[in-house]
Amino acid sequence: MNIIIMGPQACGKGTQAAKIVEKFNIPHISTGDIFRANIKNETELGKKVIEYTNAGKLVPDELVIEIVKDRLKQDDCAKGFILDGFPRTIPQAEALDKVVKIEKIVSIELPDEVCIERISGRFVHNDSGRTYNVYTSPKPVKMDVAADGKVIAAYDDETGDEIFQREDDKPEKVIKRLEDFHNQTEPIKQYYKDKDANLVVEIDGKQDIDSVFNDIENSLKNY
Ligand code: AMP
Repeated sequence: MNIIIMGPQACGKGTQAAKIVEKFNIPHISTGDIFRANIKNETELGKKVIEYTNAGKLVPDELVIEIVKDRLKQDDCAKGFILDGFPRTIPQAEALDKVVKIEKIVSIELPDEVCIERISGRFVHNDSGRTYNVYTSPKPVKMDVAADGKVIAAYDDETGDEIFQREDDKPEKVIKRLEDFHNQTEPIKQYYKDKDANLVVEIDGKQDIDSVFNDIENSLKNY
């Protein structure tokens, strides 16, 4: 089963992708994760993309397309995969269509104001990638909170290390990323609908995690 999961920042894509992986036993290919791992390991690719990712800007299509094509050639993708964060532009979708047939696009819908609220609470533990949300869940056990309720610092449950906001989760970057999503990524839904209206399933991302997954499972029933 070849699936794309799409939706604005903080719509729950990563969480739902992990549940799909567990249920359907297919690899999760997240271009954002690939870039973050390369940046952390200071690879050549990492050096090329860091200026874009830190600024919350899209990495040039040619670069992303090559990386995804290579990844899809690996054996574990033979029985299917779930793509997360790719395609993000129409040229990326066109390039993808040349190498594989996409069978479902799961689009998680969430209004901008909810995305912004969720992102402002997202904190990550640098070494492990463990992700928390200081306003929703999973909340870190240990937080320093000011009298007005503002979170001053937060800490990883397992190591006690301080956890931080991703550079591209800072408010000014988030606005830019949501704009990019609406201008460049959302049209991908129509692109696939024009091919076949049944390809795209729209899911209400305001629901709780299990209800979102339930809707996704139902939409993938015939696979
Ligand atoms: P994400 O974790 O999916 O939000 O990705 C983090 C960052 O990686 C984005 O803000 C972009 O700079 C870059 N990125 C990830 N996927 C793509 C893509 N398909 N096209 C262009 N840039 C991407």
